[in-house]
Amino acid sequence: MATLLTLLTLTSCTVGPGHTIHARQITATQPTPSAQPTPSASPSPTTKPVPGSLDWYVSQVPTFPEAPPPQPVPLPATGAAQFWHRLPTDQRVAFITIDDGGLARPPEVADFIWRAHIPVTMFLNSPAAEEHTDYFRQIQVAGGVVENHTINHTSLAGRSYDRQKQEICGAADKLETLFGKRATLFRPPFGEYDSTTLKAAHDCGAKAVFHWTETVHEGKVRYQTPEKVVQPGDVLLMHFRPALMDDLLAALKAIHRAGLTPALLEDYVR
Ligand SMILES: [Zn+2]
Repeated sequence: MATLLTLLTLTSCTVGPGHTIHARQITATQPTPSAQPTPSASPSPTTKPVPGSLDWYVSQVPTFPEAPPPQPVPLPATGAAQFWHRLPTDQRVAFITIDDGGLARPPEVADFIWRAHIPVTMFLNSPAAEEHTDYFRQIQVAGGVVENHTINHTSLAGRSYDRQKQEICGAADKLETLFGKRATLFRPPFGEYDSTTLKAAHDCGAKAVFHWTETVHEGKVRYQTPEKVVQPGDVLLMHFRPALMDDLLAALKAIHRAGLTPALLEDYVR
């Protein structure tokens, strides 16, 4: 994490709630061969990154069209959070979301997100966030945003309002303490929810509750919509699992194949 920490020192003051510091354009930063190699140059400028290394992952990231200026989707003023599978937008963007946090936390993820400027939303369970706060803070400083995925990762559908509120507000309170920002988005565990969930989420500070349109696991994108291609506003779901680096890369390639650009979900929900 030395690389990232150095960057943090230089730039942490510029990463604010507006998340405008990162250009949404994502560019692969391959090692630049020097124009005039000196006899003592080492390593050789023609050295390719070792497959599986952080440099290799960064080198594999496609170059995206610049994301359009976000046009946030208006939310109806009701007593319940809005529920969406995909964000209703025609803008040519898609969203990467990473869930849970307790199972695995590959060490190079924060540096990858930082170097490739990958916009990510993390739906965290608060105990994992509390136990591994530094890990998620590094991703936060790299541009990621922490959102709410309950305390205990239990299915909420059919539970009482009080029980659901306890899970959602309890996590929101803890995450706010740890990361300095109140969660504005919520994802119910297993995607299972009912109308009470949307009320409780609203009362805990969430504007919207998100399901997903694709899942990504072990480097493979699985489409849950008939088009079998990423659509504008789609939400890709992956988890903090051992293959997260591959999952991030697979998601980026799928978004690129669709002619879209990855963007930050929070910039589109106001
Ligand atoms: Zn989950």
